[in-house]
Amino acid sequence: MENNKKTSDFLHIGNKLLMWYDKNARDLPFRNTKDPYKIWICEIVFQQTRIAQGLNHYNNFIKRFSDVKTLAESPEDEVLLYWKGLGYYSRAINIHKAAQQIINDYDGVFPPEYEEILKLKGVGKYTAAAVSSICFNGKMPAVDGNFYRVLSRIFADDFDVSNSRAFNYFSELAHLIMPENVGDFNQAMMDLGSEICKPRNPLCGECPLNRDCLAFSLNKTSEFPVKTKKVKATDLGLQYYFVHRNGEFLIQQRKDDFIWKKLFEFPLQISEELMPFIKSVKTINHKLTHKNLSIEIFNVEVDSEEIWKNFTATNDYMITDVKNSQEKSFPKPLENYIQNYQTAYRFF
Ligand code: SF4
Repeated sequence: MENNKKTSDFLHIGNKLLMWYDKNARDLPFRNTKDPYKIWICEIVFQQTRIAQGLNHYNNFIKRFSDVKTLAESPEDEVLLYWKGLGYYSRAINIHKAAQQIINDYDGVFPPEYEEILKLKGVGKYTAAAVSSICFNGKMPAVDGNFYRVLSRIFADDFDVSNSRAFNYFSELAHLIMPENVGDFNQAMMDLGSEICKPRNPLCGECPLNRDCLAFSLNKTSEFPVKTKKVKATDLGLQYYFVHRNGEFLIQQRKDDFIWKKLFEFPLQISEELMPFIKSVKTINHKLTHKNLSIEIFNVEVDSEEIWKNFTATNDYMITDVKNSQEKSFPKPLENYIQNYQTAYRFF
């Protein structure tokens, strides 16, 4: 469907949405601030994490890294540690780098312009639009999946959301209904999309836009948004060796750009002399967004002090124990494995 609509015909929709938002905005901690640093962190945290799930993490993160300078000057490992539990750790690495960018390139002052915010590491169009509109009266719609869903339903628009032009297309549609107060409009769309116009079974009876929604009037809400291309998850096998002795075990930090960058992990290979110490193997299936992981963890309990000393002296692995490992970030399956180890061996 071609977008040949006129703004004047649809502006009342955005205004209705703002009236609804005035009364129904969710009471969230970051709603009481216009501090761009906090809004930016919150936008990144909640990009791939549900509000209920990420709220404590967000509060702890802001408590520890209360401003850009504190974040920029903190060690990356600590930033990763505070990100623990949120997953997608590249977000934390980028946040840390972007904080340093703000200190170095903008004298520590968060840039107000959309185009400048977009230059920060890890910041995409959605986040730049959200921060600039909420904090600096910017005029860009923060187009994300909520926008795709709500707009495609309101206009019963079958433009494919997996099309590479979808972002631009739905940005144009958003401009049709967008009122002057873009900051509140963006937040209202987030709230409407997550509370009312849900992906499945939208609560149309409670929706402030139901009189304007074409999909609703046609009884076709389940047909929108249209999405044809599905990204197929690929399979990946990983083999780890959990090499331990008397409550201590070996770890290394990942350098890979591939998955779990900068997180800690167990050795991926061991020498022949350790093979006889393999006691058992555990297979764990774990899903990432585009990967189905099959992880085998070999339990290597080294009961020879001489071989342990020899192996640890001739390799670059770090030696840790359960307590110290809690100060580091591991991929979820390995973290669970360590917890089971703690329980099984009753170290603490
Ligand atoms: S009426 Fe229903 S489908 Fe239309 S915008 Fe509201 S919740 Fe979404």
